[in-house]
Amino acid sequence: MDRVDTVIVGAGVVGLAVGRALALSGREVLVLESENAIGTGTSSRNSEVIHAGIYYAAGSLKARLCVQGKEQLYAYCVERGVVHQRLGKLIVATSAQQVGALEGIVAKARANGVHDLQTLSAAQARALEPALACEAALLSPSTGVVDSHGLMLALLGDLENAGGLLALVSPVQSIAVKQGPPSHPNVLRTEDGTELACRELVNAAGLNAVELARAMQGLDAAALPQAHFAKGNYFTLAGKAPFSRLIYPVPEAAGLGVHLTLDLGGQAKFGPDVQWVTDPSDLTVDPSRGEAFYSEVRRYWPELPDGTLRASYAGIRPKISGPGEAAADFLIQGPADHGVPGLVNLLGIESPGLTSSLAIAQHVERLLSPTQP
Ligand SMILES: Cc1cc2nc3c(=O)[nH]c(=O)nc-3n(C[C@H](O)[C@H](O)[C@H](O)COP(=O)(O)OP(=O)(O)OC[C@H]3O[C@@H](n4cnc5c(N)ncnc54)[C@H](O)[C@@H]3O)c2cc1C
Repeated sequence: MDRVDTVIVGAGVVGLAVGRALALSGREVLVLESENAIGTGTSSRNSEVIHAGIYYAAGSLKARLCVQGKEQLYAYCVERGVVHQRLGKLIVATSAQQVGALEGIVAKARANGVHDLQTLSAAQARALEPALACEAALLSPSTGVVDSHGLMLALLGDLENAGGLLALVSPVQSIAVKQGPPSHPNVLRTEDGTELACRELVNAAGLNAVELARAMQGLDAAALPQAHFAKGNYFTLAGKAPFSRLIYPVPEAAGLGVHLTLDLGGQAKFGPDVQWVTDPSDLTVDPSRGEAFYSEVRRYWPELPDGTLRASYAGIRPKISGPGEAAADFLIQGPADHGVPGLVNLLGIESPGLTSSLAIAQHVERLLSPTQP
């Protein structure tokens, strides 16, 4: 049986960031990916927004890793020439009731270490974005967009330069882990029957991560959450949007509301909405969902012309809380949580996972090297 120091399951943005960090720390790293290319999962089906870290519960992993990850990501994009734009975003209150909610958002942001939000009157907001309708708004100058594929290619380049390897078309089928001293190896089996022993194992399998963890022989499944899936559908705008910043409504329960984001070419898209599903492989967008988009978007852009929204793409949120439950934090379980040396399970890595990817990688490295400060 072949032996490798460290195996990462999944070559999405998080698996690649973790693989890069562990390879740079001197480990022998192998990333196993089931598909024939990197980043074909949720990492290429999102809004590509670099989030500021505004909405998450104080002290949560989402809050900490987003705020750290945002700074690391901007610096990394500059260093490695990854295309990105610090466009800024407006969070808009479209009713008197929502104006009060803005104050709560500012307080939450401050508690998370985000101190750059600016409160704007309706007139100030319209001076920035004349097509906008709102009662008041918040400006987040540190929100931006990034070329997620360019980011993943840069991470892969660093991983390979540090001696790490990527194996595509290598779906991990089963894993047996051992409780006990670190010398005991974990054993993986891929679909073609290859067996690999490794000292360290990071499960970054995105939508499959909970199922993979539940199937691990030797791991107590009682401490593992249930997987839930919430599809987010996007509609693109035919023509040019009269906005130069991202526009977000005050957030809803399971997502951030149907917002307007701009890609790096300036093309506007609206979404994602929230559609709870049981099949995480169904990525079709039902065009009839567009009707609800018109009414949501017209709350902040009343002039949205009829017939201009086109069904585009969907991504699935790897949730570990279900419909009607409070949003769960990222669940990153290391040896101290489950007793298996060298094993880290990354569960529920939904938004802001792209923004947080470099900080998640640093966090995983610390869990695997507990003597590090
Ligand atoms: C609609 C939507 C919008 C979002 N918008 C944003 C945003 O604007 N900003 C932000 O910061 N975050 C956003 N996110 C979150 C972000 O996209 C994710 O957190 C991030 O992409 C997760 O990356 P990952 O590497 O964990 O997962 P994935 O990208 O899903 O990668 C997992 C990989 O594991 C592979 N895999 C699975 N099982 C196996 C196996 N058994 N063997 C081998 N390989 C396997 C898969 O093929 C896949 O390539 C959004 C998410 C969604 C759904």
